[in-house]
Amino acid sequence: MNKTPNSNRFQIGIFGKTNSGKSSLLNKIVGQDISIVSNVSGTTTDSVKKAMEFLPFGPVLFIDTAGLDDKSELGKIRVKKALNELKKVDFALFVMDSKNIDMAFYRDQIIKFKQYNIPYILVLSKSELLSNDEKNTIEKIFPTGIFVTVEDEKSILNLKDRMLLEFSKEKEESKLIGDLLPYNSKVIMVVPVDSEAPKGRLILPQVQILRECLDSGIKSYVVRDTELSSALDDITNVDLVITDSQAFKEVEKIVDGRAKLTSFSILFARQKGDLDTMVKGVKTLSKLNHGDKILIAETCTHNTSHEDIGRVKIPKLIKKYTGKEVEFDFKFGNDFPEDLKNYALVIHCGACMLNKKNMQIRIDESLESNVPITNYGLVIAEVNGILNSAIKIFNL
Ligand code: SF4
Repeated sequence: MNKTPNSNRFQIGIFGKTNSGKSSLLNKIVGQDISIVSNVSGTTTDSVKKAMEFLPFGPVLFIDTAGLDDKSELGKIRVKKALNELKKVDFALFVMDSKNIDMAFYRDQIIKFKQYNIPYILVLSKSELLSNDEKNTIEKIFPTGIFVTVEDEKSILNLKDRMLLEFSKEKEESKLIGDLLPYNSKVIMVVPVDSEAPKGRLILPQVQILRECLDSGIKSYVVRDTELSSALDDITNVDLVITDSQAFKEVEKIVDGRAKLTSFSILFARQKGDLDTMVKGVKTLSKLNHGDKILIAETCTHNTSHEDIGRVKIPKLIKKYTGKEVEFDFKFGNDFPEDLKNYALVIHCGACMLNKKNMQIRIDESLESNVPITNYGLVIAEVNGILNSAIKIFNL
């Protein structure tokens, strides 16, 4: 379970002012000294991440962020980073020093949680410093807040119980394939093993879909493109063929209507975001003009799998398909431009390393800037004239 990728973990951000007790709290929750703790304000500079099994809930990722009130020059950069984390997490622990309640700061933060639709627990830290009267007064102001002191294990256990309860309400249940096909159906996965395939292993999108087939009782067969035709002869009534997008054209010819067809990338476009929007986005290709700029965004920083699909193959295919001299910008990893309005189209990879929330923010930001967004697999299907057959399985 320690191998669960961070994108598949429930992500919990710890936010609050500098020295409000965020880092001590994280250390107590995970039972290890992960974050540097001191009484000096601003000890947490960059976010500190800790992946763990939060039993019985499952794999989670805690993100301890820098204080949101740091006004120094360097502090402003840290606050920007922390706010960037805030947009992406699935849940927030909002830590407030119960001895130093700042109502204006509290209201500002609550607005941000609401703006980005982040559920949160208000943690009133350092409660050992409060008198009973002070505690009663604070309780009346924040009836849903929870008092915690790192000096009392029981208060940490109470907080963990509350977290379990709230996390379970929020858990993301989007499926890649388990909701598309019934139990006992048959899937063939096509994994070309050529010079570009990583040596001795499958890539993350393939592993995740294979695992979900096993979880859902979908019978899965993995073949190279060179064995696909004979596999289709051997196995009767195959429900779906899933291919690496780069082999779409060849695989479609081999399948030749014997089964439905899609790609790993398109399955991820559906799970991570909004397939409808992405399908609409791909139609922009036929409307592009000379000089239009396309943003290609890939979540891997050093791509070990499909090395040049985004940088080389897709630009080439688009130029050939449109006959237009379009320009391309490339962004990798967490780098996604704040200003999108100069682009005519955003083309995103399958985003297997992003959590759904993060991908949804990218989609929302594109649409808010009136820039259509689509995905690698859909682009390759469209330029090869097989888009309709590649999305048939989804009944859009
Ligand atoms: S480029 Fe995108 S889809 Fe491919 S492995 Fe990286 S994150 Fe996953």
